Amino acid sequence: MSDSGSGWYDETLHKDVAQRLRMGRVLHRDRTGLQDLVIFENPVLGRVMALDGVVQTTEGDEFVYHEMLTHVPILAHGRVRRVLIVGGGDGGMLRRCLEHKAVERVTMVEIDRSVVDLSIAHLPSISAGAFDDPRTDLVIADGCAFVKETTERFDVVIVDSTDPHGPGAVLFTEDFYAGCKARLTPGGVLVTQNGVPFLQPGELKDSHRRLGRLFGDAGFFVAPVPSYYGGFMAFGWATDDAALRRQTAEAIRPRFEAAGLTTRYYTPDIHVASFALPAFMLDALK
Ligand code: SAM
Repeated sequence: MSDSGSGWYDETLHKDVAQRLRMGRVLHRDRTGLQDLVIFENPVLGRVMALDGVVQTTEGDEFVYHEMLTHVPILAHGRVRRVLIVGGGDGGMLRRCLEHKAVERVTMVEIDRSVVDLSIAHLPSISAGAFDDPRTDLVIADGCAFVKETTERFDVVIVDSTDPHGPGAVLFTEDFYAGCKARLTPGGVLVTQNGVPFLQPGELKDSHRRLGRLFGDAGFFVAPVPSYYGGFMAFGWATDDAALRRQTAEAIRPRFEAAGLTTRYYTPDIHVASFALPAFMLDALK
């Protein structure tokens, strides 16, 4: 456990750089069947959940990550009815998908039931009742096995996974991406949590290569998530409809307004700007 009893939580994701968060009240700390899970209070970020030494979500900045990984693919596509979330145990992604009234069903496949139960108990503001929505279909299973076994099809697949270690490793494989592609409706979109490119360039390159072999259009969009140390977070983007990520803010804005969303990070201009990648990322993808 990276809580050395010093009252600080030391994240252990990167070898040579690290962040530490002051630990106030610890609401839960134990091993689930699969992962070390701790939920504690921090004066700046509010309640924080970490798995296996890595910050997963915080009340303070979850809006950036969850708004971008839902509103960008759903508003770019424009006619989303069915969504698949792989991972996402805290329920923040589920909540944002359900804010789209035209979405008829969201299937969420999470491998660790305890993450869901403890998030509902100690981080209720993040899921905000989304698990009780009649459009929610919660499945406790491995996401890679699920996409291979199910016959359902989805307009958008969102991979809100842990990093490529432990149970999350399989969610960065070409085998899993191929399974996701087979579950998409024509013109459907796959988006993924793809790490912090400044500190995890290998993850970016691997996913780009693997997604590029499977889809007509594969790339990334970015957003800064303060509690994901190291600068921009990269989100994988893959679809066979190459026009979807080249839309203007003028094209997106009417959909955003019609959806009646209240956001703290996402705007149609941010949507379009998020696909403009810095030179170091473009170089890494050459
Ligand atoms: N936003 C976080 C991040 O970027 O690191 C991820 C948050 S979410 C809590 C990650 C979830 O993925 C966890 O609840 C974990 O249990 C789940 N997960 C890991 N491997 C999985 C798998 N193979 N299938 C389904 N869910 C998985």
